[in-house]
Amino acid sequence: MRTAIQEQKSKMAPPAQAARLKLYIGGEWVEGGGASEIISTNPADARQVLARFKSANAKDAESAIAAAQAAFPGWRATPAPVRGRILARAAQIARSRREELGRLMTREEGKILSEALGEMDKGTTLIEWFAGEGLRLSGETMPSELPKNFLYTVREPLGVVSVITPWNFPWAIPVWKMAPALVAGNTVVFKPASLVPAMAVEIVKIFEQAGLPPGVLNLVMGAGAQIGDILIKDPRVKAVSFTGSNSVGRRVHALAGERGIKATCEMGGKNALCVWEDADMDLALAGVLKGAFGSTGQRCTATSRLILHDKIADAFMKKLLGEVKKIKVGDGLDASVGMGPAVDEGQLKTDIEYIEIAKKEGARLLIGGERLDGGNWKHGWFIAPTVFDGVKPSMRIFKEEAFGPILSVTRVSSFQDLVKAANATEFGLTTSFYTHDLNLAMRYADEAEFGMVHVNSPTIGGEAQAPFGGIKGSGYGEREMAKEGLLFFTELKTVFIDYTGESRKSNLY
Ligand code: NAD
Repeated sequence: MRTAIQEQKSKMAPPAQAARLKLYIGGEWVEGGGASEIISTNPADARQVLARFKSANAKDAESAIAAAQAAFPGWRATPAPVRGRILARAAQIARSRREELGRLMTREEGKILSEALGEMDKGTTLIEWFAGEGLRLSGETMPSELPKNFLYTVREPLGVVSVITPWNFPWAIPVWKMAPALVAGNTVVFKPASLVPAMAVEIVKIFEQAGLPPGVLNLVMGAGAQIGDILIKDPRVKAVSFTGSNSVGRRVHALAGERGIKATCEMGGKNALCVWEDADMDLALAGVLKGAFGSTGQRCTATSRLILHDKIADAFMKKLLGEVKKIKVGDGLDASVGMGPAVDEGQLKTDIEYIEIAKKEGARLLIGGERLDGGNWKHGWFIAPTVFDGVKPSMRIFKEEAFGPILSVTRVSSFQDLVKAANATEFGLTTSFYTHDLNLAMRYADEAEFGMVHVNSPTIGGEAQAPFGGIKGSGYGEREMAKEGLLFFTELKTVFIDYTGESRKSNLY
């Protein structure tokens, strides 16, 4: 969880050329009314200021909700296929700006350019998928007990919905929430993380250019602790879609529960990648490298735990350390770099704290474990890819999400112990099992307490048409993406039509 102070202090003083960003309320770009100015810098070189903005205050949040409320009747009345066509145009614009926005994402969030472009592609595919849902937003018909009666269901929008997002997928997560909300006929108040405001503004510009009417999508930026509650508690808000840390997610869920409104909260993970004795070692190794160190370990789906069968553990670790040594850490715009910086100073400190905790608890540091701060790293928030062996389920590094490039290794000698170790955290987002044994793979898929299970592929990733989300402490509410992600933003209505008066004779009525 990032505090308001962290959100503001993690940035340095801006030079004059930084873009001045505004909020977007009721179709107008307006200056935030909050007291604080928030600055967005490049985590690879914090001297580079990308943007700054005045944060939203309570009045701005309320105005955004009012604008969304006013726009709702018109948007609801717009046929779903027409709403879908606007989304399709947004996807086209996004595809045409892929490279430019990918570069902005790398500069603002820090992930390497190939990952940023991958995120652009994934998010755009999600918009396209949901655009098509405008043509398929259908209910069902069912036979009635009575003759000459027509019985059907219809999907209706909820009204104003709040979309609250984290910094680590500044394009894909906002659009995978907004696109289904919009195509279903809801109006949106979007609150991104303060570390990625430049990407948030570009998202809104894309939808504006695609033809969304004023008020249908509104942007408020500022510390969640200051404006978050309003976006959940205001009686005009009918649902909240949140992604972020567990501590904030629990609170969001509780507040929404108090009001009896829908909430979906996707939160952290402590994802286990398991390698069985018969696995394709090179394939598993590729999965570990991508999962643990891709995006600097700052993915909810990152591989933070590696569970190895004893028989292959030594050989696997030797190969793994050989590959980790080769990872070049640096500015993600440099094509030779394999891992970018931590997103900011606060996240870097958290990573270092967890490394110290792991050492104190007796885990064996094999590689990394330190901040990288000389030479080209001097002005950024860089950390070495880090691996601990001998990690026990009782240790904090086994149980808690650090959200950095820190991999914990645990060894097991039986399938039961492997499953027990994989399930031994409060999280349940995603897991991988590498094996050639189909029976074991099926048993693992049955017994793993995670929302997503991969066999012979990394813990990371997801596809537009497949439900995404976690169980246990990783997710409350409905799944995101896919049909499920759309249905969250709808209410189901059942309609009974008696067109000959049969209901008069029935004891059902
Ligand atoms: P965070 O919880 O600090 O912030 C997430 C969002 O919530 C931000 O927009 C923030 O401003 C806002 N917020 C903060 N306090 C709030 C409050 N009191 N009320 C309402 N909103 C508030 O998380 P973060 O640091 O931005 O993101 C990292 C976390 O996100 C990690 O735990 C990661 O695992 C998780 N995450 C989960 C998924 C998933 O799909 N499961 C995906 C990506 C990231």
